[in-house]
Amino acid sequence: MEKICVAVRVRPPTPESSSSENGSSLWKVEDNRISLHKSLDTPISTASYAFDHVFDERSTNACVYELLTKDIIHAAVEGFNGTAFAYGQTSSGKTFTMTGSETDPGIIRRSVRDVFDRIQMRGVFVAGLKEEIVSDAEQILKLLDSGEVNRHFGETNMNVHSSRSHTIFRMVIESRGKENSSTDAIRVSVLNLVDLAGSERIAKTGAGGVRLTEGKYINKSLMILGNVINKLSESSKLRAHIPYRDSKLTRILQPALGGNAKTCIICTIAPEEHHIEESKGTLQFASRAK
Ligand code: ADP
Ligand code: MG
Repeated sequence: MEKICVAVRVRPPTPESSSSENGSSLWKVEDNRISLHKSLDTPISTASYAFDHVFDERSTNACVYELLTKDIIHAAVEGFNGTAFAYGQTSSGKTFTMTGSETDPGIIRRSVRDVFDRIQMRGVFVAGLKEEIVSDAEQILKLLDSGEVNRHFGETNMNVHSSRSHTIFRMVIESRGKENSSTDAIRVSVLNLVDLAGSERIAKTGAGGVRLTEGKYINKSLMILGNVINKLSESSKLRAHIPYRDSKLTRILQPALGGNAKTCIICTIAPEEHHIEESKGTLQFASRAK
């Protein structure tokens, strides 16, 4: 069983919050440890948490890709399955990490380019029910842009741009060695890059009706994902039953989770003081995944 790589990333304060909440970050990042600043006047623990990597607010997507996901992508080209997740409350930087900006592309774009840089291939790209055959990076990136439009999302009070749905970008990579290609077996690997739905508790979002019901399903599916990941990290020592079938999300991801699949989780944190409870919840999720 491969060890799951767990990282935490703190996003920079937004311009609005830095004027209203004195601007200094609540979280202290030192090497691979994160803790609350001691000066903080709250009766909460200042214990520090250690992870495989902790990225502070100055970190770039290039750096996150290099340290966290590059090995997974390279292994996928060699035939190993892999999954990278972004977990965290709405507005903490999941989409920034996975999709990124024009100047600093996220993990998905970097992965697509890296895969095509490394191999000559015939690839299959699956988006929802749509399956497309592509042969270069540009084709995938174009599909990706059009896919954004089709995304199902509902607005909540938390953030009008927020989406409370999981987004899975999946690449199925089929490859064969260049020499003796007629006799070489085709290697097939599945790579999942997942921007999870916001992990915030439902009460905070002010959602009602359909959104409330949807929120409950999302929180449940994230809890089940947490259980599966926790069982997987335990099972390196102990042969445990992995409850993949308890949710649709884990069932879909199962082929590229566990076994010899390579997995990393990046848990994103919003630095503002009013997000402290959610941030602690995210660190707890990250700790359980180790
Ligand atoms: P989420 O997907 O978790 O809801 P977003 O990725 O949309 O959160 O991030 C919320 C806002 O913060 C966006 O405006 C985004 O551009 C910005 N942001 C997030 N992470 C970073 C970062 N590391 N550096 C700069 N801006 C960031
Ligand atoms: Mg998002």
